[in-house]
Amino acid sequence: MAIQEAKLIWRNGEMIPWADATTHVLTHGLHYGTGVFEGMRAYNTDHKGVCVFRNRDHIERLHYSASVYRFDMNYSVEELMEVCKQVVRENGLQSAYIRPLAFLGYGEMGPSSMNCKTDLIVAAFPWGAYLGEEGLKNGIDVAISSWRRLAPGTVPAGVKAAGNYLSSRLISLEAKTHGYEEGIGLAHDGTISEGAGENLFVIHKGRILTPPTAASILNGITRDTAIVLAKKLGYEVVEQALSREMLYGVDEIFLTGTAAEITPVKTVDGITVGNGERPVTKAIQDAFFGIFTGETQDEWGWLDPIEG
Ligand code: PMP
Repeated sequence: MAIQEAKLIWRNGEMIPWADATTHVLTHGLHYGTGVFEGMRAYNTDHKGVCVFRNRDHIERLHYSASVYRFDMNYSVEELMEVCKQVVRENGLQSAYIRPLAFLGYGEMGPSSMNCKTDLIVAAFPWGAYLGEEGLKNGIDVAISSWRRLAPGTVPAGVKAAGNYLSSRLISLEAKTHGYEEGIGLAHDGTISEGAGENLFVIHKGRILTPPTAASILNGITRDTAIVLAKKLGYEVVEQALSREMLYGVDEIFLTGTAAEITPVKTVDGITVGNGERPVTKAIQDAFFGIFTGETQDEWGWLDPIEG
């Protein structure tokens, strides 16, 4: 999806024009994948104006990701939460995708360099439904990838690092090459891991199941949102290993992610999921989107208004 340009990007403490947010070709992050980032959304809510969704949780994950790779962040969680709001506000955006990125900058070569300064940017721009409006409503076609997700003890899957997205690219491209809308990666042991950019849930005999964090997943914030909302609706949610063949026999499947929001899955490897009805997915979707209309009471403080 082409980027819809906004006016300003925050970089290392300053708001600069969009077109000036460039970097040197010998930037460390470009060579060694040494970037950590977030994908967040701001929603134009009916009752609290424009709000960043789960601002603190995203920025805390960014700090965690940076700490694993020993980046100096230079800005506190609270400061960066404010910056996210400022970027949405100063670009005059009503709803936006927010992309904070910290990467090792220009200065030294070699993967273990400790002398490259951290470059920190926060951008925001309009972005609709990542897997399409039609997908949000009627579900998408997914395929299990021949590529495995990152195995334990290789590159940490639970860290949102730029380099991890080489795996996502292979999984997603393979699916799209074969006419599917998204690819699902298996963990190193052949159990289900996650989508190229989404966590996966199944509904089986009235229970909601999702792979555990040890199944090479990114511990998604939307995943957590779906778990909290599902429990609130009275469903049992269990984190457990899922076999590939199980996906062919469950009642419903949905994917979660900041970009994907809560997207139902229509088919897996060409096999229709359940009988095509999705009452549980629909209930969780309604609860999720209800946060932005006020129909779902935000008892968790997930909405962070950009004004005041
Ligand atoms: N897994 C991967 C690989 C992702 O890239 C994402 C998107 N950030 C997710 C899961 C979902 O995470 P979140 O709900 O925090 O956006």
